[in-house]
Amino acid sequence: MAVIVQKYGGTSVGSLSRIESVAEQVIDTVRQGHQVVVVLSAMSGETNRLTALAQQLDPVPASRELDVLLATGEQVSISLMAIALVKRGISAISLVAHQIGIKTDNHFGAARIKHVDKKRLGQALEQEQVVIVAGFQGQDRDNNITTLGRGGSDTSAVAIAVAVKAAEVQIFTDVDGVYSGDPRIIPKAKRLDAISFSEMLEMANLGAKVLQNRAVEYAKEFDMSIRVLSSFEHGEGTLVTTSPIETLDKKSSLPVHSSVSSVVCLQKRAIASLPRLKDCEYLQLKQELNKQGIEFTLIDPNKCQLVEVENSCDCHHFVISSDKIVCLKSILEEITSAPTSGIIRTLNGLSQISVICSEPKKQETIASKVLSILTSAEISTKLISTSATACSAVIDESDLINAMRLLHSGFGLDSLP
Ligand code: ASP
Ligand code: MG
Repeated sequence: MAVIVQKYGGTSVGSLSRIESVAEQVIDTVRQGHQVVVVLSAMSGETNRLTALAQQLDPVPASRELDVLLATGEQVSISLMAIALVKRGISAISLVAHQIGIKTDNHFGAARIKHVDKKRLGQALEQEQVVIVAGFQGQDRDNNITTLGRGGSDTSAVAIAVAVKAAEVQIFTDVDGVYSGDPRIIPKAKRLDAISFSEMLEMANLGAKVLQNRAVEYAKEFDMSIRVLSSFEHGEGTLVTTSPIETLDKKSSLPVHSSVSSVVCLQKRAIASLPRLKDCEYLQLKQELNKQGIEFTLIDPNKCQLVEVENSCDCHHFVISSDKIVCLKSILEEITSAPTSGIIRTLNGLSQISVICSEPKKQETIASKVLSILTSAEISTKLISTSATACSAVIDESDLINAMRLLHSGFGLDSLP
């Protein structure tokens, strides 16, 4: 009998009737002879509602207390799910993170899972109970409640799947898989049958919202395949795995035969340019940004073309969310013990658009193609950079939709009419 971990996101459990249909779906899986662990997010809108409540009292709420508050959202959805299952004659138990020993570090609001204890989970599964676990939360060494950052239930699901040696982790969401581009921006985007961990990780880091990046990182480290599925309709979804080539049927294998698998973007970006730091300060800065869960792309001047940024060589350049510039400044002040006023130059109102490469060797060709597609549409590129698996361009926010569609079609990703 295989253990299957199923994670349902906020919209999938957004109302009592949604909770009832998910309960039916879980029962179907049980009837197929599987042991099931269900990991849930809070009902849709709940985490935002709780955050807003706290912010009415303090715009920057005490981080430990905010985590105590936010963790309640998932407790509501898991108990309601257990009630719905028990009512249907299924033996089910809801458990919050500290009851099953999901241990994390102590970075409130962006904690990382260190360990999941399999004892309590194992006992419940042995007693043939459906175990329903609160996603997004953990417990630090001092028994404080922690949360894992927005979208963190994906990571809870993967970590639990690794602990119980599940056959697969299924992430049910409101889209039917991972797409070659956000279908709301690119109507011609297509669903990918399978994708490698590395590409998915790059996609998640560079803006795809479908999975939390840490979930992919964890799955990659422990080689736990993830299947992204819709909780609203049946389908094969997208398999995120080590070697999609072997898993895929040749005729449908879009990502393995094309050098680019998708186009993703990050909106509301800024380029922050700061004078060169000592190596140790630079390292400290990167570590602190990571610790605080602040996403950034570091631009290595040797590997990027700064098309419209001045004094590029004697500066470090970061592409960062505009609303995190304040944090960047205060971290820097702490590290250098000097005021940053007038030192950091910022360029706002930008978007970062990235094409994800399935064949890392081709990045250079891909970069020149990106630049030529954008230039011929008279879209000005502030900066273009390549990493092992992606090529990113920073452009004006107002050019974003046009640029996304042009790159998607330019790289042959549009679905056939
Ligand atoms: N409820 C949390 C959020 O809204 C965690 C999750 O949904 O994964 O981000
Ligand atoms: Mg999510």
